[in-house]
Amino acid sequence: MLDPKRTVADLKELRALTGDENGAQRVAFTETWVQARQWLQGKVQTIPRVETHRDEAGNFWATLRGESEKALLMGGHIDSVPNGGWLDGCLNTMAAVEILRRFSAQYRGKPPVTVRVVDWTDEEGARFGKSLFGSSACSGNLDMNEARGLTDKTGIKLPDALKEYGIDFERVKDSRKELRNAAAYLELHIEQGPVLLDLDLPLGTVLGTFGVERHAITFRGQAAHSGSTPMNRRKDAFLAAAKMSAEIYRIAERSGNGVCTIGSCTTKPGIVTSVVEECRITLDQRHLDAVALEKMYREARAASEQFAQEGKIEVSWERLWQIQPILFDEQLIALADEAIAETGAPPHRLPSGPLHDAAEVAHAGVPTIMMFVQSLHGISHNKIEDTREEHLEMAVTAFDKLADKAMRWIVGR
Ligand SMILES: [Zn+2]
Repeated sequence: MLDPKRTVADLKELRALTGDENGAQRVAFTETWVQARQWLQGKVQTIPRVETHRDEAGNFWATLRGESEKALLMGGHIDSVPNGGWLDGCLNTMAAVEILRRFSAQYRGKPPVTVRVVDWTDEEGARFGKSLFGSSACSGNLDMNEARGLTDKTGIKLPDALKEYGIDFERVKDSRKELRNAAAYLELHIEQGPVLLDLDLPLGTVLGTFGVERHAITFRGQAAHSGSTPMNRRKDAFLAAAKMSAEIYRIAERSGNGVCTIGSCTTKPGIVTSVVEECRITLDQRHLDAVALEKMYREARAASEQFAQEGKIEVSWERLWQIQPILFDEQLIALADEAIAETGAPPHRLPSGPLHDAAEVAHAGVPTIMMFVQSLHGISHNKIEDTREEHLEMAVTAFDKLADKAMRWIVGR
């Protein structure tokens, strides 16, 4: 039967094997990652009637064939960032492995539907700077031209690095066939933010992942001597940019749950004795609702034009990146709420700021849901990442209940 303490023990074993005093070191396409994968393979092989294989994108699959070909998928990623936390990604994988053990034991190796655990390749993108590699290859969403040109900091190209690990870059999208019978995808993850912590809740149901609008905004005024130019004669590009800084807080507040960040600011000529001629800022805006995201973007644009006009300067916008919000399946959201409530915790729904493999699977059209467990300190991608052990055990229990409900949901469809 389900043993949530075994998941915690597995995670500690993995930490001892692949971490050091600076944290987890399971960066994808490194020896430590291979070691972690071999360890995972060893764990899964002890479960009766489970078959394993690696797909064309290097994703690791453990499959327990059921009465029906329709498959319940549970996923995670054993790779980490350098000096990463002990739970990000591998909690998902190891909770899913525990639930696979439970399904195998309960149904003597033949559950009503096929149950599969997937460990995605290179979720973090730590070595090549591009996250969600394995899941985006599988969903068909990976931009092959962009990925072909990616290099790590020593100049090694992604396709060459993949070859070393037995992966043929040109065939990674053949992994799409793995989703053929996928009827639902479930993912448990540490929250990586402070929302559940601040509400004092152990678990949350994830509504979807934020859409993103990312732009560079350039204000152009006129350089002028800082001593000889009266204040009322200046065309100060920095002044308009500075007004944007306060304005984005008002825009985010009006939007409900959106967030806006000015992450960089560069000035020209950038010397102490000149009014700023040119100021370039970047603006990152995120919201779960596509209409609200569009409104945040338009408001920021209008504000920048107003500030430019007030300062008698010019402004131009350049889009750096954009992604639509991805909403998870409404019926699975309701089942996740039920599973959390039955574990004795109040259900709570929240969006995800970071992207996850689950977003790729949802994008491929598979009904998808995520569950979050509280993150102490609200911090991730850091060796101090942590979750209380009783919350980890609750998370495995609630996730198992969700898996059971999702299986019955698949059977009933
Ligand atoms: Zn993760």
